[in-house]
Amino acid sequence: MVPHALLIPFPAQGHINPMMQLAWKLVSHGFLLTFLNSDSNHNSILKANAPNSLHDNIRMISVPFEFPVMDTLEGVGNGMDAVEKCMGPSVIDRVIQEINAREEENKLTCIIADAWMSFGLHPLATLHKVPLAVFHTAPVSIFAIHYFITNMVSLGVVSSDGIPKQDQKTKYLPSMPPLRSGDLPWLWGGEYFFRKGTRMAQEIKHIKWILFNSFLEIEAPVVETLSKEVGVYPIGPLIPPEFLHSTASTKVLPSLRKHETECLQWLDKQCTHSVIYISFGSTGIMSEKQVEELALGLDATQRPFLWVVRSDLMKGSEAILPAGFLERVRDRGCIVSWAPQLEVLSHPSLACFVTHCGWNSVQESITMGVPMLCWPYFADQFINRTYVVDVWKLGLPLDANSQGIREKEEFLKGVEILLESEQGLEIREEARKLKGIARDTIKDGGSSWNNFNLFLTAMKRQPNE
Ligand code: UDP
Repeated sequence: MVPHALLIPFPAQGHINPMMQLAWKLVSHGFLLTFLNSDSNHNSILKANAPNSLHDNIRMISVPFEFPVMDTLEGVGNGMDAVEKCMGPSVIDRVIQEINAREEENKLTCIIADAWMSFGLHPLATLHKVPLAVFHTAPVSIFAIHYFITNMVSLGVVSSDGIPKQDQKTKYLPSMPPLRSGDLPWLWGGEYFFRKGTRMAQEIKHIKWILFNSFLEIEAPVVETLSKEVGVYPIGPLIPPEFLHSTASTKVLPSLRKHETECLQWLDKQCTHSVIYISFGSTGIMSEKQVEELALGLDATQRPFLWVVRSDLMKGSEAILPAGFLERVRDRGCIVSWAPQLEVLSHPSLACFVTHCGWNSVQESITMGVPMLCWPYFADQFINRTYVVDVWKLGLPLDANSQGIREKEEFLKGVEILLESEQGLEIREEARKLKGIARDTIKDGGSSWNNFNLFLTAMKRQPNE
């Protein structure tokens, strides 16, 4: 019998990408996969990708769901509740029954759900007599900070509703570096997110396999501490093999938006290590003033740049660039609405990455050896910034002024230190070293390779073995 996994990503780009990369790994080890999306994401994938870009052994299916408008905190909470309702256990139960009725020969043998989609799935998996594994697409530290919340409350560093007690850098957990009070991942979303994150950690703590798109070497202290409590299996970085070995190829990385690949030809024309790449993932939002400051900063660097200006980068309107900006930078700037980010980061012309510190972007940047300028917005991005800057020393922070704006001068200073100074040289050297470590961990015998193989063996075992 062929092992057949149902994969359930959270319905957002930053969760679908690593789940797809996990799908690729499983398919290359003989799995058949059913990949469940929301209707709207399913349609976006079909629209944005060539029909032959998907692997034959990955069956894409969908259920009705579209995020409601989420422009207030309450709206975001409602959106999260709606996911749980429309893609929750009763819907998944129906999906499992349909798959098993259709696939006489290849019934489901396991379920792999995003950590934020795992609510109520454990009893369902037991009912269908298949193992459930959970995939946490953010770092181990983020799970740990949700998991150990009661320890943090007893240490007196946060209140019982997750509010930091002191407005200064604090060691919230012994196995993690000191964090700024604003780094705590739930603060942007208020009590709702605090409760939801705590519930997620409690819900999945009994699940044997918790996979992470991270690797031991960058999070060893927290992995060690958490492993004493739950089944922690970092298997990252999940990067398609063609970006690691020039001979490999894969067909399974669909994006929700169309990649504008022309920018790669533009990169080909730039000098080695010269281009600043700026992207805020699928979620970063800017005010008009912030777009202006960044554009002026880019102008002032006098360096070539590739900037991803998504159609929804500015709330409510197309991004408004300062008058004359496009003419001034015509010879050294390239602006796209969505870039083939992995190709971009692995291009020899790249000098640095101005990133919102989404976890996929950070993992991709590490694996390609690109130093970062960190511009976090919400959720795990602040802790990711702290690790990038303070622990791994792979980048510099770009700090906002008292009105929350990153000024042109801050940007210019960051670029100059990173690309011109002695400190920048050390950071670039660290980025080069960690690139090697990241690649070694997924090679035969590396720690992520070992974890993945343990997982694979367990998932291939038949229920009665
Ligand atoms: N991405 C891309 N093109 C872009 C910007 C982002 O392909 O122009 C991809 C990027 O490679 C990453 C994902 O989108 O895999 C974004 O995930 P991340 O966790 O960095 O941020 P999020 O979108 O979840 O905030």
